[in-house]
Amino acid sequence: MEDKTKLMSTKGLLQSQELYEYILETNVYPREPEPLKEIRDITANHPRCLMATAPDAGQMISMLLELVNAKKTIEIGVFTGYSLLLTALTIPDDGKITAIDLDRDAYEMGMPVIRKAGLEHKINFIQSPALPVLDKLLEDNDNKESYDFAFIDADKVNYQKYHERLLQLVKVGGIIVYDNTLWSGTVAMPEESVSELLKAVRHHTIEFNKFLAADTRIRLSQVPLGDGITICRRL
Ligand code: SAM
Ligand code: CA
Repeated sequence: MEDKTKLMSTKGLLQSQELYEYILETNVYPREPEPLKEIRDITANHPRCLMATAPDAGQMISMLLELVNAKKTIEIGVFTGYSLLLTALTIPDDGKITAIDLDRDAYEMGMPVIRKAGLEHKINFIQSPALPVLDKLLEDNDNKESYDFAFIDADKVNYQKYHERLLQLVKVGGIIVYDNTLWSGTVAMPEESVSELLKAVRHHTIEFNKFLAADTRIRLSQVPLGDGITICRRL
């Protein structure tokens, strides 16, 4: 069994840890590219290592990127770069990722792996709160409807604001994936049973899920991979 299984398995939402480990061991880890394993190892030393994208969700994201032939993508919430690296590994050599995060230090932790894999040229890292960057991008008409794919994994309280901007930046048929949309399963728990730590984001997540479910501008699928991902396709 892989060293990091215990750590990663705490992200799962399935009925049992054994089932989640089964999926990771059978389908995910054997096919996970070496640089992604390296970034997981490096990330394990970070005090907030649980923030990294779950490898089972990552595998789906990678498949979606391939299915839409994504070349130009945007990522909000980079951390040490697991999802960023898997995107860089998947898009073509002349593809470009606009990657936004407040935290450059975490990004620098994973950077040696990205550099070693020869993928740095695909990444435009912007250290900033995401909202003003999206607004700035929208000032240039060339950016409108130009992105094939977006992965959103940052401050949940702003997901709806990101969504409005992303619907202008992503082309028709393009994909927007939101992470943590089941928030440790708390979206379906009575509020009184949820820890204070999870309560505030639980509320935003419930509201956001309701909003997306009613949004006629997208096709949608809520998938219980990792901590829950919602896959949206712009109509
Ligand atoms: N996708 C990453 C991965 O695969 O490792 C994990 C991202 S982590 C869950 C969330 C990140 O969002 C943190 O690195 C944090 O600094 C960043 N973040 C939080 N609020 C933000 C904001 N308003 N704008 C940009 N980044 C933000
Ligand atoms: Ca996440």
